[in-house]
Amino acid sequence: MARLNAIVRSLPSVETLGCTTVICSDKTGTLTTNMMSVSKICVVNSLQLGPTTSEFHVTGTTYAPEGIIFDSAGSQLDFPAQSPCLLHVAMCSALCNESTLQYNPDKSNYEKIGESTEVALRVLAEKVGLPGFDSMPSALNKLTKHDRASYCNHYWENQFKKVSSLDFSRDRKMMSVLCSRMQQGIIFIKGAPESIISRCSNVLCNDDGSTASLAPHVRAELEARLQSFAGKETLRCLALAMKWMPIEQQSISYDDEKDLTFIGLVGMLDPPRDEVRNAMLSCMSAGIRVIVVTGDNKATAESLCRQIGAFDHLEDFAGRSYTASEFEELPALQQTLALQRMVLFTRVEPSHKKMLVEALQRQNEVVAMTGDGVNDAPALKKADIGIAMGSGTAVAKSASDMVLADDNFASIVAAVAEGRAIYNNTKQFIRYMISSNIGEVVCIFVAAMLGIPETLVPVQLLWVNLVTDGLPATAIGFNKQDSDVMKVKPRKVNEAVVNGWLFFRYLVIGAYVGLATVAGFVWWFVYSENGPKLPYHELINFDTCSTRETTYPCTIFEDRHPSTVSMTVLVVVEMFNALNNLSENQSLLVITPWSNLWLVGSIILTMVLHILILYVQPLSVLFSVTPLSWADWTVILYLSFPVIIIDEILKFFSRNSRGVRFSLRLRRPDLLPKKELHNK
Ligand code: ATP
Repeated sequence: MARLNAIVRSLPSVETLGCTTVICSDKTGTLTTNMMSVSKICVVNSLQLGPTTSEFHVTGTTYAPEGIIFDSAGSQLDFPAQSPCLLHVAMCSALCNESTLQYNPDKSNYEKIGESTEVALRVLAEKVGLPGFDSMPSALNKLTKHDRASYCNHYWENQFKKVSSLDFSRDRKMMSVLCSRMQQGIIFIKGAPESIISRCSNVLCNDDGSTASLAPHVRAELEARLQSFAGKETLRCLALAMKWMPIEQQSISYDDEKDLTFIGLVGMLDPPRDEVRNAMLSCMSAGIRVIVVTGDNKATAESLCRQIGAFDHLEDFAGRSYTASEFEELPALQQTLALQRMVLFTRVEPSHKKMLVEALQRQNEVVAMTGDGVNDAPALKKADIGIAMGSGTAVAKSASDMVLADDNFASIVAAVAEGRAIYNNTKQFIRYMISSNIGEVVCIFVAAMLGIPETLVPVQLLWVNLVTDGLPATAIGFNKQDSDVMKVKPRKVNEAVVNGWLFFRYLVIGAYVGLATVAGFVWWFVYSENGPKLPYHELINFDTCSTRETTYPCTIFEDRHPSTVSMTVLVVVEMFNALNNLSENQSLLVITPWSNLWLVGSIILTMVLHILILYVQPLSVLFSVTPLSWADWTVILYLSFPVIIIDEILKFFSRNSRGVRFSLRLRRPDLLPKKELHNK
C-alpha cells in the first residue's frame, strides 16, 4: 500500500477500506493538481465613466514569474503597474502573504514554500511588476532567475513594515495584515469573496485611482463576475481589499475588518488531476459514493466536478449540492434525505466535516474522510477511515488512519482496491486451508466407514499440513487483485468471512479431496498393475485376513505403496486446489497461474520437496513412503485434476448469481448512465 502512496497507520483500517461506502474528499489538491495560477482579475472603474468593471487576463500557468497581462479588449499591458487597481492588487498580494517563491537551480524551476493560493498571488505580483523604471520587462528580465523569483515581492516588503496580522483560518476564510509606510497605517485583506465584499463599503477605481462608495449595482456586478469566474471558468476566487488606518495602531483585531475598500477580484486556475475521472468512475462501479467536501465556492466546485467528467450522469446538481449554510437551514428530515443524494458540500468549515461524518454514520455508511488542517483532526478521528494528506499538518496525520503521500484522490481509490484485494487474499488463504483440512478429515472418515486400512499415517498428515499446504497457502497472500475487485459492492462490516455458499463450496471441494485420496488407495489394491489386484470385498475385510485362508499374505496390508499413492494424491490435489484459489470467482482462464509467480514457485518447491521424500533414503523411511512408478503418477494426475473442473463450475455459478444481484443493485437511478436515466 505504501507503494500506492497510501501509508497505513492503523492496520485494521486496511480491512475497513474494503467496507467503505462513502468517500468524502477535499477538492483542492486532492481532486486538483494544486498548481495554481491567477488567470483573471476583475476591478471596478470610476463609476461615472464606461463599464462598471474591467477584466484582465493573465498568462502563465506555472510558478514562473513570467506572464503577460491583457486588458478586456485583448491588448497587452506594457506597464501593468500603471493601472491603480493592478498596482494595489500586486501590493496586497505581496504583503498579505505568508508563502515564499524561490528558484531551484538543481531542478531548474520555481518552487513554492507554503500554500499554493498564496504563491499564485506572489507570482501575480511579479507579473504586474513595479511602478516606474523597474516595471519595464526588459529591466526585470536582466535579473538572474534567483533574484527574479521574488524581486517585486521583496520591493513591496521593503516599502512597507508589517506591524501585525490575523492569519488565514478556514472558519473566517480570510487573512489580514496591518502595515505601515510613511506615517500611514494600512490593512491589506484577502479572502473568499463572500467574506470580503460584504465587509467593503468603498471601492478603488481603476481608471483614476479614486475611491468611491460601493453602490448596490456595483455589488451586483461583482457578484455576477464572481459567478462567471467560478461557474463558467472554474476559477478559484479571492477578493482583495484594504483599509487606511491611523499610524499609531500597533495591532489588528477582527473589528478592524469592516468598512473596507475593495481592490479587485482574482480568479485562479487549479486544473483537475487527469487520473481523478477514472478513479471516481471506478468508485461508482464499486458502489462507493464520492462526496466532494470543500471550503471553496459552490459554483467553482460544481464547475470543477463537471470538468472532471465523472458526474455526467447527473442532469444538474440540484438537490445534490449544498453549501454548509444551506444544509444547516434544512429541516431535520430533509437533511436526512439530502445526505442520501449529496455529492457536493461546499463552503464548509472543519466542524462541518465532523458533523457530516456523524450524520452519514447514522445512516449506516462506512465513511472515509480526508483532511489536512489542525481543525480537521476531530473529523478524521471520527471517520471510519481518516485520511490525512502528506502535505498536511502533523496533527491531522496523527489523527488519521492513513496518510496519502501524494495527496491524490486516485491513491485513495487505489488503496480501497488494495484493501479489498488484501481481504480477498485473506479469505482465499482461509478457504484453501479449510478445504484442505476438510479433505483430510473426509479421507480418514471415509476410510474408516468403508473399513479399509488406514490411508495416511500421522507423520504423513503432519507433512501435508505443515509443509505441502503451508507454502502455497502463504503464496496465496500475494495474489494479484481480481479484475472485478472494483466492480462489486462494498462488503458489509458484519459480513461473515465464510458465508453459506462459500462453506458449501469448501465442503464440495473438501469432499472431493478426501474421496480422491481414498480412491488412490483403493486403486492400488484393486486395479494397479503393480498391486495385488485384490477383490474389493477382500480389502474392506482386511482386519479378518489372519483368521481366513487367503491367496495372498496378510502383510500386503502393511505395504507402504498404497498410502504413498493416497498421500501423493492429497499433495497434488492440494496443488491444483491452490491454483483454484488464485481468485474467489474468476476462472483460471482469466486469472492465469502466471499472475502469481510466488504461487507457481511455491508449488514447484512443494513438489520438489515431496519428490525428495519419495525417492531419497532415509526420508522415505521416515515418512513411510516408497518411490512411485509412471503408472502411479498418471493415475494420481487423473484423480487430482478434476478438482479444478469442479471449482470452475462452482465459480461459474458464483459469478452469475452475483452478477444478477449486482445489476439489480445498480438499478439505483443515481448510478445509471445519463442515457438510461432519460429512458427511465
Ligand atoms: P479544500 O477543498 O481542501 O477544502 P479549499 O482550499 O478550497 O480547500 P479552504 O482552504 O477552506 O478551502 O479555503 C476556503 C476559501 O478561502 C477559498 O475558496 C479561498 O477563497 C479562501 N482562501 C484560501 N486560502 C486562502 C488564504 N491563504 N488567504 C485568504 N483566503 C484564502
